This record gives sequence, structure tokens and C-alpha cells, in this order.
Amino acid sequence: MREGEAGNCAYILDEGTVEILVQREGQAVQIGTRGPGSLIGEMAMVDDQPRTATVIALEDCKVMEISREDFGRRLESIDPVLKMVMRVIMTRYRDTLGRSRLTAKPPPGFPSAETVEHSDASHDKAIQSIKVYNELRTALQNEELFLNFQPMIWLDSGKIAGFEALMRWNHPEKGLISPGIFIPVAEETGLIGEMSHWAFEEACSAVKLLKNSAKAGVMDERAPLFVSVNFSVKDFADEELFKHLDKMLVKKSTAPEHIHLEVTESLLMEQPENAKDTLEKCRNRGMSVAIDDFGTGYSSLSYLHYFPIDTLKVDRSFIRSMLTQDASMVLVKSVVALAKNLNMKVVAEGIETPEEAAAIRATGCDLAQGYYFSKPVLLAQALEMMGNWQAPEIPS
Ligand code: C2E
Ligand code: CA
Ligand code: CA
Repeated sequence: MREGEAGNCAYILDEGTVEILVQREGQAVQIGTRGPGSLIGEMAMVDDQPRTATVIALEDCKVMEISREDFGRRLESIDPVLKMVMRVIMTRYRDTLGRSRLTAKPPPGFPSAETVEHSDASHDKAIQSIKVYNELRTALQNEELFLNFQPMIWLDSGKIAGFEALMRWNHPEKGLISPGIFIPVAEETGLIGEMSHWAFEEACSAVKLLKNSAKAGVMDERAPLFVSVNFSVKDFADEELFKHLDKMLVKKSTAPEHIHLEVTESLLMEQPENAKDTLEKCRNRGMSVAIDDFGTGYSSLSYLHYFPIDTLKVDRSFIRSMLTQDASMVLVKSVVALAKNLNMKVVAEGIETPEEAAAIRATGCDLAQGYYFSKPVLLAQALEMMGNWQAPEIPS
């Protein structure tokens, strides 16, 4: 077996011995032998240039093949921080070997020749992510994370139906950081799981306090007051997720009817089996499931039958354009009709003006959320809201 011919595979020698030869001044020179357990042709994992060494079997050998694709897949499944470190090491290795200007396609998950050209930048990015990872870990331990709560309002009565829990990070030096910045890092580094567990526990505590603060007439009797918790696709890769949530409900003595789980269409598409299984268990336990940012992700609606879904949250981009673009209005009306037919509730996200509130109410949409009703607020303010809520006027 010539490594040059091996192309994009490395091998683990299972049985037998091989010698490794390189060409020096037109002569094949042996530079060593390898026995069982050795890795041969590992450079194939870094790039796909022709190999310069030759491997000759000295006896009957058995090898296990590792293709670049397989390697890439395995790389995807390792601990995210480890992956980042691997990337930095590999990038440096390629640089050291002077291969950075080669146009070879790297294996999946590895920096491309172009990114290696800018290896300082990709290296800095990886280091930056590790730094934020460490800071986020500390944040979790030091209670720098907290939840804000934004009410969802019944459009017909103006009463409070529930709250969405939105994560915030109070960084000791940088101040308040929005989830748009730190959630992607948490997802990339695998910390999101712990953070979601934390958010769920906080939401369970909040439910009790919110319920206890409710004055007559603030809440509707139609459905139990709820707190809605956001989940990421990485959360659903964890097969223990349901077990954990169940344990938390017991620990906090929270009735599951008070908890909604918000997941996006892309989450459902990326983890269909896990998501279906976990969401069904959650639903059987009594929690509700809402599809977040509905309309921005997947193009087929058939998944609405496949997953157990109670609520569709129409993305605010449709609300924004609803009053100026007929197509958006038609779309929102269709989603409301579809949800009614499927026995689901609809929440309109991002209502900012009385005109939007009026237009969305006219579609027959059940609930609304947005700055027009309230910005996301601290728990203390949300508790106050439960005591003296006055819904803003919705013009007819
Ligand atoms: P999202 O789940 O779609 O949450 C709604 C976002 O819209 C929130 O941004 C909220 O503050 C904002 N918003 C609400 N009403 C209005 C409005 O009338 N106008 C405008 N322009 N914006 C409005 P936020 O809090 O910055 O969160 C951004 C995203 O970060 C969330 O989008 C969600 O995807 C993610 N996120 C927040 N908290 C968590 C969490 O605990 N876990 C996970 N996995 N993701 C979270
Ligand atoms: Ca959400
Ligand atoms: Ca949303």
C-alpha cells in the first residue's frame, strides 16, 4: 500500500508490521517500521496532497481505514472545546508544514486553505470562544445570569396569559450582554445544556411567585398562567433532557401546566427523532410546546402533524411587514386559520404599535407579545405587573 495512493484515508495497523520509506536523492530510504496500533498516513486527515512516503507491508497485515469524511463526522461529535483546540492545533500544524498556500480541500470540520491563509484570524476566533466559554462558566457559578420576563396578552380581553423567560448576562466588566451574543457561544461550546437547565429551574420558581402575585382580573381563567422557556437544538441532542426537566418539576413542586417549551422549526428539523421523543414525553407530563419564530425556518408544513405542538409563535418579521405588504397579511391570516384547524393557539411576536395590535386582533390571533404591551422586565417588575396590570388600548 502506497500512502500516495491511499488518498484521503489514514489507517490504523491492527496486525502485522510495515516499513516506511521516503525518496532521498532518487533512492527509497527506510525511516522506520511500525507495528500493531500505529497510525499511518495521518496527514491525509489534514489535507489531500499526494503523500511523499511509501508504506510496505513486511508481513500479512490487517488495517482499519479512517476516511476523511468519517474523521470529520467524529470531529463534529466531540466535545466542542476539544474540537476548537484541535482546530487550532491542526491550523498551526498546516502552517508549520508550509501547506497554507495549498489549495487542497481539508476534511469536513477543518479550516480550509483560505482560512488557514488567515490562520491568525481563525486562531484568534477559537481563542476568543474559549475565553467566552470560561467567562460563561464563571457566570453560571457566580449568578451573573438572570431572566427577564415579557408578558403575552390575550388579544380579546387584554389580560395576561403568561410570560416568556429571556436570558440576560450581567458581565462584571462589560455590563449587560444580550442573548443574541452569548447564546450562540453557549451553543458552540456545549454550555447551553447547563444554562437551559438553570433557566428552566428559574422559570419554575418564577411561576409560583407570579401566580401568588396575581390580583383578580389580571389573569384569564381560560388557561393556567404560564412561563415559556427557550430551548436550543443542542438541548435536544441530550437524551436525558426530559428526565432532567421532570426532576426539576418535582424539586420545585411546579405543576407542568404552567410551563411552556419554546423550540424553533430548525431545532425540530435537526433533531427530529430526539425532539419528537422528548417533546412527547414533556407533553404527556403536562407541559406545552410552542414553535418559536414560526414561518422563518422550514418550508414544509407536514412536520406540524409529526410533532406534538400546542402553539405557533408568528415571527415578528411578518408582523413588521403586515401593514405594508398584502402578502404578509395574507400569510399571517393563513397561519391563524391553519392553527385554528389544527387546534393550536397563535401568538403574534413583536407587536410594537396600536395599529399592529389592532390589525393582529382582527385576524383572530389569540395572543400577542411585544413592546406595545411591555418590554421584557425583571422578575420584580413582572410580579408588580401581576398586581396592577392595565392593558394598553387596542383601537378598533
Ligand atoms: P426569541 O425567542 O424570538 O425572543 C424574542 C426576542 O424579541 C427577545 O429578544 C425580545 O426581547 C424581543 N422582542 C420582544 N418584543 C419585541 C418587540 O416588540 N420588538 C422588537 N424589536 N423585539 C422584541 P432577546 O431577549 O434579545 O432574545 C433574543 C433571542 O435570544 C431570543 O429570541 C432567543 O432566540 C434567544 N434567547 C433568549 N433567552 C434564551 C434562553 O433562555 N435560552 C435560549 N436557548 N435562547 C434564548
Ligand atoms: Ca422565544
Ligand atoms: Ca421568537
